[in-house]
Amino acid sequence: MSKIKPLAYSYDALEPFIDEATMRVHHDKHHQGYFDKFKAAVEANPELKELSAEEVLWQLEDLKKDLPEATYLALKNNGGGYIHHNVFWEIMSPDGVREPQGELREMIRGMGGFDKFKQAFTQLALKQFGSGWAWLVLDENKNLQMYSLPNQDSPLSLHHQPILAVDVWEHAYYLKYQNKRAEYLENWWQVVDFAAAEKRYQAALKQ
Ligand code: MN
Repeated sequence: MSKIKPLAYSYDALEPFIDEATMRVHHDKHHQGYFDKFKAAVEANPELKELSAEEVLWQLEDLKKDLPEATYLALKNNGGGYIHHNVFWEIMSPDGVREPQGELREMIRGMGGFDKFKQAFTQLALKQFGSGWAWLVLDENKNLQMYSLPNQDSPLSLHHQPILAVDVWEHAYYLKYQNKRAEYLENWWQVVDFAAAEKRYQAALKQ
């Protein structure tokens, strides 16, 4: 594989909330770039070839002991960048379900309801200093947690399964929103697909 998976929708499908120019450069350049660098790091280390990208991230802190620091960082940053964007494209859709569904809806109700959840998640994304992501994850005890992580640090390396994610690197919004991260986040909720999030939740429960 040399090319990342194409988007399941057109580059302009999330307009006006996420613009076509951003989607093109984000998917074709940033995401592809993470993948290319991740692949190069794996190919330079034959012992990694048997592992999927998710497995590399899951085992990252164990692998660290046997790898040069530069390789560890290449896997962490580019492996994270590769996998995280796969999640990001998947949980957005032009014709998705905009409110939690199924069991995830019940869980979010238990966390105080959708409005409260949305507000708390937005605050995490807003307050992430510099580049990073806000995450809703299923933890090792099968409980939901939310937090933000810097850069491409991965919930997988904490042994948490990503359910929902928002990219707050400037490349995700700067062309359209410049410094207005809050406006980007407000609009991002208009393209979230909770049917996809529910699928991820069900899959994570079975892991
Ligand atoms: Mn990104």
